[in-house]
Amino acid sequence: MTLAHNESETMRIGIIGAGQLGQMLGFAARSLDAQCCFVDPSDNPPAAICGDVLQRPFDDADALAQLASDCDVVTYEFENIPVAALQQINSKVPVYPPTNALACAQDRLNEKHLFASLGIPIPAFQAIETREDIAVAKESLGLPMVIKTRRLGYDGKGQFVVREEGDLNTAWEILGGQALIAEQWVPFDFEVSCIGVRNVDGEIAIYPLSHNVHVDGMLRTSKSPLDEPALTEKASEYVNRLLEHLNYVGVLALELFVIGDDLLANEFAPRVHNSGHWSIEGSQTSQFENHLRAIMNMPLGSTASHGHAGMVNLIGQIPPAARTLETGQLHDYGKAPRPGRKLGHITVVENSADERDRLLDIIDKTVTHSTTTNENTTSPVSRKSR
Ligand code: AMP
Repeated sequence: MTLAHNESETMRIGIIGAGQLGQMLGFAARSLDAQCCFVDPSDNPPAAICGDVLQRPFDDADALAQLASDCDVVTYEFENIPVAALQQINSKVPVYPPTNALACAQDRLNEKHLFASLGIPIPAFQAIETREDIAVAKESLGLPMVIKTRRLGYDGKGQFVVREEGDLNTAWEILGGQALIAEQWVPFDFEVSCIGVRNVDGEIAIYPLSHNVHVDGMLRTSKSPLDEPALTEKASEYVNRLLEHLNYVGVLALELFVIGDDLLANEFAPRVHNSGHWSIEGSQTSQFENHLRAIMNMPLGSTASHGHAGMVNLIGQIPPAARTLETGQLHDYGKAPRPGRKLGHITVVENSADERDRLLDIIDKTVTHSTTTNENTTSPVSRKSR
């Protein structure tokens, strides 16, 4: 079924998950005259300010059936949804991104096989089922190596870095008993992500690369564009291959390690992605708007950058200093503070990469270290201080 955008009627978009990604999709929907409704079990989730929320589990059959009957198209903002639940409603309403892409992204081993089959370079890896497999992997991959759960891992969770022989038992004690994968530890220079989007008609657009810094496995900062034309071309080609092969609809984010002139794919996310938040202010069309355009089968918007964008995540708390910055756009998702929780982000867009880097660095230090700043004090980030 091909969903055509009907200019005269407001489209209803069902979104599974009502977290911050759902919220940003909900905001983007307003300019497209689309209406969002969400399924999410939490009390007052971030996206509740942009549409109705069916407060039910993500895989609740009744809630999904209602979404399918009420909406013109269904999408999702996170990956841990049973594929079978989505396949059930896919017979009644289009579900994008396609469930084959989700099924692949949910299992690191399948994901690796997909990358390899498409000629996308990856780190050496080995499937792990037994304690003995870990010892074998150590011989073939060398140390350090990282053991990851094949399913349900995110933000570096469900991972253990084996640095020495003595860690082998610990890795098995912590992670054993579930399907695992061992990966060679990649001594990367830095990490990037490449976000692409494809609409129902097959039109494709790719964003400039984001340069990402992770702390403890969690994204801390992203900057874009990256002045690396050869890497950009290579990464865009890889994303293009994935989008075409999966007959994909929506936004897809591919995370990669950079080593010299080479790129190794780490994983892909079949959804809008934290490393593309800068696109709200920094791009002619945000990843959120383009995701909606893609699934509504509208022409895609330009992915050209406005300038040099940078984003810093606010994790665990939003310190008072984050609210008094003289530059930068604060996005507060309205979530209760909790250690390790993504609560918001700040974006800067500047005319030069140097100025962007300077401001982002100050903001990063300010929000990381300032927990006691008085609400009324002005942060050191000031356009006047340039
Ligand atoms: P992931 O959950 O696979 O995205 O991993 C989270 C972060 O851990 C990545 O962004 C990297 O910073 C780091 N990491 C994961 N796998 C590897 C690897 N094979 N080699 C080096 N660093 C890794």
